[in-house]
Amino acid sequence: MNIQTSIPAPARLAPAGTLPLPSSVAPPRIVWPYALGVAGYHLVAMLAFVPWFFSWTGVVLAIAGLYVFGMLGINLCYHRLLTHRGLVCPKWLEHSFAVLGICCVQDTPARWVAVHRRHHQHADEQPDPHSPLVSLFWGHMGWILVENDDLRRLGIYERYAKDILRDKFYAKMERHGWWMWVIVIQWGVFFAGGCLAAGLSGDGAMAAVQFGASVLVWGVFLRTVVVWHITWSVNSIAHRWGYRNYETDEGSRNNIVVGLISSGEGWHNNHHADPRSARHGHRWWELDVTWLTIRLLMMLGLAKNVATPSPHLTSAAACRQLSTHDYEVSPDR
Ligand SMILES: [Zn+2]
Ligand SMILES: [Zn+2]
Repeated sequence: MNIQTSIPAPARLAPAGTLPLPSSVAPPRIVWPYALGVAGYHLVAMLAFVPWFFSWTGVVLAIAGLYVFGMLGINLCYHRLLTHRGLVCPKWLEHSFAVLGICCVQDTPARWVAVHRRHHQHADEQPDPHSPLVSLFWGHMGWILVENDDLRRLGIYERYAKDILRDKFYAKMERHGWWMWVIVIQWGVFFAGGCLAAGLSGDGAMAAVQFGASVLVWGVFLRTVVVWHITWSVNSIAHRWGYRNYETDEGSRNNIVVGLISSGEGWHNNHHADPRSARHGHRWWELDVTWLTIRLLMMLGLAKNVATPSPHLTSAAACRQLSTHDYEVSPDR
């Protein structure tokens, strides 16, 4: 990150509709596998409201899953560790967290990292993959549903994800759709685990299947959809509404609701001001559960080289314009 104080104030806080679609999108073409996947997951998740699929175990698994899969897999691993290199974990632990991230169906680690690094480099400018200045729906989920030539794997990997793909584990996840098999195995583990637990406790075959189905619908499908909308809210809501601790040269905001439901990712203005920091909550009351978890890992000796907010941020320069777009996006190491 480079802090400058002389750049002109851009039109970052303009209303939605003031930024065109990325030129690499026109004309919009639907990516059917993604569109059907997103629609299918939402439809299956809605079965949670059918009484036959209800169980309290499913509810507990869904809530715990927000933390285990969303927080550890996406926030800690995909975002703060892999994208921004804000901490280092032992490889076995990093890869385990990455598997949890893959289970969240937000694409492979390399693709997530590449798209997000591009977002930081062009946030709220025309090539931003998901600026809500195009429209709130576009920034939230519209961008996932259409082809964007800018985000084709080979091109974007070469530019933004070389460091990720040097790791054989992540390279392997790209090949032969392996990451999708991880997702399918997840379905099987939850369903079979539920059936087995009910069977062992003496339930009949039909009751065991019903329990397994409730564990699958609540513990996987509903949880995945909720984690999606939490992650997407950081891109949409936290670039539109909230307060700003730093005058960054894009529209990022600290949004209290998103900050709390996302375990700290919604302190998004803090994050754009200092992307590498593994701590997103900068003020004492900006609760950052992901950061508390990283501190726990540090105490256990499972996280090191942890980046904390830059001292530059507290200097007088931070009160003026912070240039964040020239952030080093692809550490070539
Ligand atoms: Zn952002
Ligand atoms: Zn980021």
